[in-house]
Amino acid sequence: MTIGVVGEMRDGKLTQETIEAICRAVHVKEQLKMTIELVLMESRENFDSPWIDRWGADRVIVYERDHSERLEMEAKLSTLEAYVRVTKPLALLFAGSIQGQELAPRLATRTSASCLVDCTAVKVDPVDQELLVTKPIYGGNAYGEYSAPFPCYLSFRAKSIAVEVKKEVPISIQWRMIEKTNEKVAVVSHRLLSAATYDLEDKKILFVCGRGLQKLENIKRVEAIASRVGAGVAGTKKAIENGWLPLETMVGQTGKILAPELCVVLGASGATPFVHGVKNAKKIMSVNKDQEARIFEVSDLGSADDCESVIEAMERKFV
Ligand SMILES: Cc1cc2nc3c(=O)[nH]c(=O)nc-3n(C[C@H](O)[C@H](O)[C@H](O)COP(=O)(O)OP(=O)(O)OC[C@H]3O[C@@H](n4cnc5c(N)ncnc54)[C@H](O)[C@@H]3O)c2cc1C
Repeated sequence: MTIGVVGEMRDGKLTQETIEAICRAVHVKEQLKMTIELVLMESRENFDSPWIDRWGADRVIVYERDHSERLEMEAKLSTLEAYVRVTKPLALLFAGSIQGQELAPRLATRTSASCLVDCTAVKVDPVDQELLVTKPIYGGNAYGEYSAPFPCYLSFRAKSIAVEVKKEVPISIQWRMIEKTNEKVAVVSHRLLSAATYDLEDKKILFVCGRGLQKLENIKRVEAIASRVGAGVAGTKKAIENGWLPLETMVGQTGKILAPELCVVLGASGATPFVHGVKNAKKIMSVNKDQEARIFEVSDLGSADDCESVIEAMERKFV
């Protein structure tokens, strides 16, 4: 039997979310005695195989797509439907990306599988040999454990597992053709709503701006400090709703889950949905004028101070 991992590549390399999904599959593989098949949709020009054999997949199936053409969601779904028809995987794990979160439920509906998205852990039930899946519930205030009847499709929250390199073993790579679709709806044009890229995932230092920063001018001051120290700038939901920062920079349950080396949280209360986004940081340093603020419960270092005085001190040092 097979566990399929539906992966993604960027610049010819497996994405971090794909590697995390393979590591999840490795965790349950031994108990279920299955092989792990990594499923990709990529052009030969973009495909770069080094390192593909180090994460624990047993086989790679690459559905070859045209290098010059954009692969629409419908074509991806038809291709995965064909894969499911042929392979009948017991479980399909999707990369915890925006695409993975969309593909999993849509494919599950088409192929009558059970599906859970935004999962944070998976293990095998020793009695029933079913998968037991953990995921946040009630707005992130609690975790629920669900049994996922086979066949089941799961997508995981990004950065909720540490990746491990397995011993490199020779791995077979099989090329197949992308499925043709009989689409009734065609995409005629794509319009980029925002050209900005916020590579917050790669930043070692992250400043998070909360509503306690009071005004846009203070966000700009934080941005100036961040640019001097090579840090990223993100915001809480309230800061984003105030229009101080773009939506792409929202951290938390609804936004990005980030794991920088150092996260400096300025004027955020520490609400649970927000904390989900930063709790994987190696160190959290926070400033909040309310010494009872919940953010201090998850902080390694806290300053019960006015944000502005801390900003001034950082400006003196860095700007
Ligand atoms: C389903 C759901 C999903 C959600 N998802 C997210 C999410 O992904 N991300 C997210 O951020 N939120 C999310 N939220 C909202 C979340 O619950 C909080 O409302 C939000 O995080 C609060 O933002 P904040 O801390 O900036 O603002 P506030 O709660 O208003 O806190 C501001 C803090 O600043 C402090 N402060 C005020 N003035 C100063 C000053 N001068 N100096 C220092 N400190 C000061 C105050 O003491 C206060 O603690 C979600 C909510 C729900 C229900």
